[in-house]
Amino acid sequence: MQDFWIPENIKILKNEPLSRHCSMRTGGPAAAAAFPKTIPSLTELVRTANEQNIRYLIVGNATNLLFDDRGFDGLIIFTGGLRGVLWNANTVTAECGVSVTALAREAAARGLSGLEFAYGIPGTVGGAVYMNAGAYGSEIADVLVSSDYLRGCDVFTRGYCAHAFAYRSSIYRKTGEVILRAVFSLVPGDPSEIRARSKKHMSSRRESQPLEYPNAGSIFKRPPCAYAGALIEQAGLKGKRVGGAEVSEKHAGFIVNRGGATTEDILRLIELVREDVFRKTGILLEPEVIRIPY
Ligand SMILES: Cc1cc2nc3c(=O)[nH]c(=O)nc-3n(C[C@H](O)[C@H](O)[C@H](O)COP(=O)(O)OP(=O)(O)OC[C@H]3O[C@@H](n4cnc5c(N)ncnc54)[C@H](O)[C@@H]3O)c2cc1C
Repeated sequence: MQDFWIPENIKILKNEPLSRHCSMRTGGPAAAAAFPKTIPSLTELVRTANEQNIRYLIVGNATNLLFDDRGFDGLIIFTGGLRGVLWNANTVTAECGVSVTALAREAAARGLSGLEFAYGIPGTVGGAVYMNAGAYGSEIADVLVSSDYLRGCDVFTRGYCAHAFAYRSSIYRKTGEVILRAVFSLVPGDPSEIRARSKKHMSSRRESQPLEYPNAGSIFKRPPCAYAGALIEQAGLKGKRVGGAEVSEKHAGFIVNRGGATTEDILRLIELVREDVFRKTGILLEPEVIRIPY
């Protein structure tokens, strides 16, 4: 990547291993990684990258990503430092780097219901809106009112209807615009009941998911009328390994890094699973995890 100028007062690391920053713990170095803490510094970074023709990628907690083993030949902008939250009666405005689990916990404490499903999802508000994250029969689309985003260097507001929400998808997957913040509408309820629902979801995650190993959540999208994990298990693929990557013994819908896995190991295992499940059931699984090319 060419040399470039980065605004002062923004933490920037050169040649930063991406395996340190993603939940799968794989991937080579980013030419540069920036960690802005405010919306103006994020905006300034994006403006600088655009002006200097620097390739960049906005990343939240990197819990749904597979970085290339060669790394990323550009600038990765991590949003985890943008944690502003504003509560106003039944609505909350959260900056893109806010943890959705932390937001759900605070909503419960305030007696506001609607985010219980998100308690335990390890991503940020930006990643959750981009992906339309969901669980236990609910999703971000059920609570989102609007989002602010950057197009070029200008800030726009997008209302609910313009988000084109679909299963694990929003308009942002097409536009690639930077989500700055989102507004959610919640419903008053009994704090202890809300907390109990959230905790129930967390326990069920701990019981069913291989949280003891690095992973990126469900590797495949849910196919119509079936569960990816069940299809993979029925195909006899639990425990199947390529290098350090393994189809989890605990939940076949997860691929875990058993130590020393590369992204290439994971991609080869994904292809092996897709081919085998397709041969046995006629269903072609589509990856949910997003591959980030070098
Ligand atoms: C243990 C585990 C459990 C999980 N459980 C669930 C679950 O129950 N339901 C579910 O839906 N997902 C689940 N996931 C997957 C993941 O947590 C979600 O997809 C989450 O929403 C991703 O958020 P993130 O901040 O990590 O996004 P990232 O992985 O960092 O990014 C995902 C995509 O969003 C884009 N993006 C991120 N922030 C912005 C922004 N501010 N502006 C524009 N684009 C942005 C990135 O460029 C990337 O394309 C799980 C993952 C793990 C590891």
